[in-house]
Amino acid sequence: MTRPGRIFCVAKNYAAHVREMDSSTPPAPVVFMKPASSLVPAGTRIRYPAHGRELHHEVEIVLRVGARGRNIPAEAAPGVIDAVTVGLDLTLRDVQRDLKAAGLPWEAAKAFDQSAPVGEFLPITAPTDLDDIDFGCWVNGEPRQRGNTRDMLFPVDTLISHISGIWALEPGDLIFTGTPDGVAALVPGDRVEVEASDIGEFAWDIAPPDAA
Ligand code: ZN
Repeated sequence: MTRPGRIFCVAKNYAAHVREMDSSTPPAPVVFMKPASSLVPAGTRIRYPAHGRELHHEVEIVLRVGARGRNIPAEAAPGVIDAVTVGLDLTLRDVQRDLKAAGLPWEAAKAFDQSAPVGEFLPITAPTDLDDIDFGCWVNGEPRQRGNTRDMLFPVDTLISHISGIWALEPGDLIFTGTPDGVAALVPGDRVEVEASDIGEFAWDIAPPDAA
C-alpha cells in the first residue's frame, strides 16, 4: 500500500450515529486526521491497543484523492476522487470520552498505531454514484453496522469542497467519510469484516495487546 500524505477523517456525518453518541449535529463538517503510519491493509492482524479498554469499530467509506486542488467547488468534486474502498476508523471510546471531558485533543483515541484498517481501493473508471453506496460491518459473522452514503449529513461533494478550503488536496490523500450507527466494542479474538456494494469485503483479526 502506497503511503498517503494525509488521512482526513470526518466525524458526526450520520444523524443516527450522532444520536447514539448523545452528541449534536455540527453546522459544518468536523475533520480530524490520522497519521499515514496508522494504515493497516486487509488481512493483517491488529494488536488490541494497550492504552485503552473499549476499542470500537466504525465502518466508513474511504475516498482516495487523485488530483491536486484547493478551494474545489462542490460541482467539481467528483473529478477529484480516483478510488474508493471501505475501512474502519478504530476508536478507543473510553480514551476519547476522557479526552473530550477534559477538552483535550483526540489523537490517543483515534490516531494510534493500526487505527486505520482499509480495504483494497477500487479505481473509479466510470461515473460512479458515491452518494448511494451500501456498506456494513460484521463481527464474528454477526451484523453490527449497516449504512448507505445517501444518509451522510455532508455528502461527498460538500466534504471535498470543505476540506480543500482548508488543506490543498494532494494525490494519495485519503478521506474517511464518517460512520453510521451501531458502533460497538471489539475484543481480542474477534474477526471484524467490512463490506461495500460493488467494492468488496475485507477482514481483520484482533489480537491481544501483548501478541507479537
Ligand atoms: Zn469515524
